[in-house]
Amino acid sequence: MIYKRSSALFKAAQQVIPGGVNSPVRAFTAVGGDPIFVEKAKGAYLYDADGNKLIDYINSWGPMILGHAYEPVVKAVVDKAKKGTSFGMPTEIETEIASLAVSMVPNIDKIRFVNSGTEACMSAVRLARGFTGKDKIIKFAGCYHGHSDSFLIQAGSGAVTFGTPNSPGVTQGTAKDTLLANYNDLNHVADLISENKGEIACIILEPVAGNMGCIPPSEGFLEGLRNLCNENDILLIFDEVMTGFRLAKGGVQERYGVDADIVTFGKVIGGGLPVGAFAARAEIMSYLAPEGPVYQAGTLSGNPLAMAAGLAMLTELNSKPEVFTSLEKKTEYLHNGIAEQLTQAEVTHTINRVGSMISVHFSETPVTDFKTAALANNDTFKKFFHGLLNEGIYIAPSAFETWFLTDALTYEDLDATIEACGKVAKTL
Ligand code: PMP
Repeated sequence: MIYKRSSALFKAAQQVIPGGVNSPVRAFTAVGGDPIFVEKAKGAYLYDADGNKLIDYINSWGPMILGHAYEPVVKAVVDKAKKGTSFGMPTEIETEIASLAVSMVPNIDKIRFVNSGTEACMSAVRLARGFTGKDKIIKFAGCYHGHSDSFLIQAGSGAVTFGTPNSPGVTQGTAKDTLLANYNDLNHVADLISENKGEIACIILEPVAGNMGCIPPSEGFLEGLRNLCNENDILLIFDEVMTGFRLAKGGVQERYGVDADIVTFGKVIGGGLPVGAFAARAEIMSYLAPEGPVYQAGTLSGNPLAMAAGLAMLTELNSKPEVFTSLEKKTEYLHNGIAEQLTQAEVTHTINRVGSMISVHFSETPVTDFKTAALANNDTFKKFFHGLLNEGIYIAPSAFETWFLTDALTYEDLDATIEACGKVAKTL
């Protein structure tokens, strides 16, 4: 396929936008080459600036679970836009979507809408600190919770207890309150808690990780965290920005039967518009302004267009729960097909999958945490990525990202993808 116009558009963008993109992961930094510029999308397909048609396995990094330009969502947004695009005053639709979300997700009474997953996680941590009166948080290496300061932390050499910033601009003062644990390692979490007795406000995690490729929680991991939190007066925050309204109607809490204290959302809940949200039982949410002392606000929070898109999306998912089964079957079909092609071509690989989240790691060992994810062969991934792109298949331009399937995919699309994987596998 030819991507000439995309390359020209990228050059122009680089003149006026840092790195030519408004979010770093869109650039092909990890795989090399120029990013594809999109013209439009419909259902399972992207149409790019060169007129190529691509099968999309990213779907805006998750939101488009029912496909691009999904009619009920588009209609809701267009109808709403005609009545004004923002008021900064309460509107009835905010209560409608809040009621629906609360009815779909277990264990939450109230929900506050914001504009991104970053804001949702940042606010959830502030709420946890305000509610518990404690400062420190535990996060896991390889989990991403947006770009707010407290989360841009990695373990420095020799640092066991305190985190170290991994972006200039994040202060040591902020970093010292973020403790870093290894995913799927309960003992590590227990050690951090006992070394910081009475100081930890919350543990935040992706309960099914998607930001180091897809990594499921190991047997008993979520339950173990729940118990550690109960025993130590720590709040458990599930970051369900990726998994919420995707892995089940009620997200990971429903799928794995473990309750969180605070849950954060993004992506699907906004139907493709900029929406995030955080939710908890009433006792915790009552700490939020204006009811309580923890401040959090937003000029465009609960924006009518965003709420219309989100409400249309959640209404569809609520009335068609078979979507989740259908997506899971399609993802399993894809999983088996790709595994067969890679095995036939004798390419070493590990495929991780939960529901409609799947990732291919070119690795000999099982991928269960950030360390094992980092062992995979990135050169093979780069060839795989570009090979598939050449065949008109768009997967995430990084080995540390998950593919998000859309129910708009047909079995013919999946067969075409599996065939393309077979062709590319022979070149690896
Ligand atoms: N949490 C998770 C689990 C995410 O995957 C992301 C984004 N990919 C975020 C938070 C941040 O969301 P946003 O990009 O909307 O700020």
